[in-house]
Amino acid sequence: MSDTQYLAAKTIDEAVDAHAKANGSARFLAGGTDLLVQIKSGIRKPNLVIDIKKIVELNSIQEISENEFVIGASVSGANLNRNPKFAKLWPGVLEAFRLIGSEQIQGRASLGGNLCNGSPAGDSVPALIAAGCKAVIAGPGERKEIPIENFHLGPGKTILENGQMLVALKFPKRNNNSADAYLRMTPRTEMDIAVVGCGVNISIENGVCTNARVSLGAVAPKPLLINEATDIMVGSSLDEGTLEKVSKICRDSCNPIDDKRGTIDYRTKVAGVLFKRTTLLAADRIRGN
Ligand SMILES: Cc1cc2nc3c(=O)[nH]c(=O)nc-3n(C[C@H](O)[C@H](O)[C@H](O)COP(=O)(O)OP(=O)(O)OC[C@H]3O[C@@H](n4cnc5c(N)ncnc54)[C@H](O)[C@@H]3O)c2cc1C
Repeated sequence: MSDTQYLAAKTIDEAVDAHAKANGSARFLAGGTDLLVQIKSGIRKPNLVIDIKKIVELNSIQEISENEFVIGASVSGANLNRNPKFAKLWPGVLEAFRLIGSEQIQGRASLGGNLCNGSPAGDSVPALIAAGCKAVIAGPGERKEIPIENFHLGPGKTILENGQMLVALKFPKRNNNSADAYLRMTPRTEMDIAVVGCGVNISIENGVCTNARVSLGAVAPKPLLINEATDIMVGSSLDEGTLEKVSKICRDSCNPIDDKRGTIDYRTKVAGVLFKRTTLLAADRIRGN
């Protein structure tokens, strides 16, 4: 890392301008729990590292209206964990984030870094997609919002272009009778990457499912939103027949890699099982169990 320059940006404009001028040779630094490991192992060799932890907006947790949160891209898991209102509204998002590394890692690691790293197995990503979250992106002179399910292009690749930075994650206003959940399967119980991850976000009114979003991670080149799941679950009582139908759709949507941590068959089968378990967990949360 000896040739790498370091810039601690104080504003979003300063950060995106420096990134744009570097013509693809700069990386933003949030918690560094991915980036510093990648630099040390020679996977990434940026000429410029732009520290974005000191930018106020990127470190803020805001409730912009009742039950509607915007979380700065660099907010650490540990800090988000300390917000009781957010924890009550989005238990699945926090559940996913709490799986990332150890307590020490979570003291640094951010939701934004987990998303921008571009891993198909990033734990928070299926939970963010299920939540219906949007990425707020800044570039020189522009701001835009895009749904998280459109953020990834493939392993290690996102839609961010030179000079663009993730500023925040915008969560939809939370309704009553709604809950989310995230479960993952790993060969080891801790400090491992998901072999399959599943995020589910549902609303139930008078026993009928009125909203559902299902997302799978680590089973395809990028995290998936299972649109067909929504069509089948909404209007149902989430009975066993419905869950089995959607479980099959989840299995059919998988296009995973085959490696020592999980074969294609194994990952595919687990995706269907995890979908059911995650949905039942979210439903239990709505019922207050
Ligand atoms: C021991 C260990 C265990 C881990 N376990 C897990 C795990 O179980 N599950 C899991 O999902 N991950 C795991 N990780 C990976 C990592 O901790 C997470 O991906 C973390 O959320 C990354 O956040 P960060 O703030 O440290 O990102 P950084 O390392 O700072 O950045 C990651 C990437 O995103 C880019 N970036 C960061 N912020 C922005 C932004 N605002 N705009 C544009 N680009 C940006 C950086 O340039 C870099 O390319 C583990 C890592 C370690 C070291």
